Amino acid sequence: MNMPGSPGIDEVKAAALSCTACRLAEGRTQVVWADGSLDSDVLFIGEAPGFHEDREGRPFVGAAGQLLDKLLSEVGLDRSHVAIVNVIKCRPPGNRDPLPDEIEACKPFLDAQLAHMRPAVIVTLGNFATRYILEEQIGITRARGRRYERRGAVVVPTFHPAAALRGGRFGGMSPIDAIRQDLQLVRSVLDERARIAQQATVGVAGGTDDAADASSEQLGLF
Ligand code: URA
Repeated sequence: MNMPGSPGIDEVKAAALSCTACRLAEGRTQVVWADGSLDSDVLFIGEAPGFHEDREGRPFVGAAGQLLDKLLSEVGLDRSHVAIVNVIKCRPPGNRDPLPDEIEACKPFLDAQLAHMRPAVIVTLGNFATRYILEEQIGITRARGRRYERRGAVVVPTFHPAAALRGGRFGGMSPIDAIRQDLQLVRSVLDERARIAQQATVGVAGGTDDAADASSEQLGLF
């Protein structure tokens, strides 16, 4: 939402594209702002751009991104209908982890994206995005597998697709199966939302204000 006197999302984007607030500005090819639609109800948050993202200026276009696209399609989602962003918008050298001051310097950009979208569902990919949104120092293996409520959204934490590419087993499950399970949870939240919205439409069309009110109250829970 754009508060009077606060910059719109296009102005924030313009500021991000020329940002020099932290050391990552020196090594980047370009700022990686977002992909998909910032008008979507669903927001995926990754960690930071890698080599290919830095080159192309779009998040998740390398191997992890291709896996993400495949896993999205398995639950009937497509990157053009969701928003995809990162906690930090510039590539850390050698793909190292983002540092706390870099996350802090980039915070206004992700917070502006969240305020603009007011997403119904946030999917956090990996430790950095999960800790940012849950505001807890929790690890992804423990955090995933359930839904949370934060910032007016249902939050579904899951493994980063790069962890799925590395393989291994965490908590008795492979990361790729865990992501599949978590995306099924996202699917069921979206289906439930669609069902409630449909009820509200039927309530309004049938003139039953109570049904429409009850449905919009339920939608507020998503
Ligand atoms: N990993 C991320 O966290 N984000 C990207 O955009 C690409 C890889």
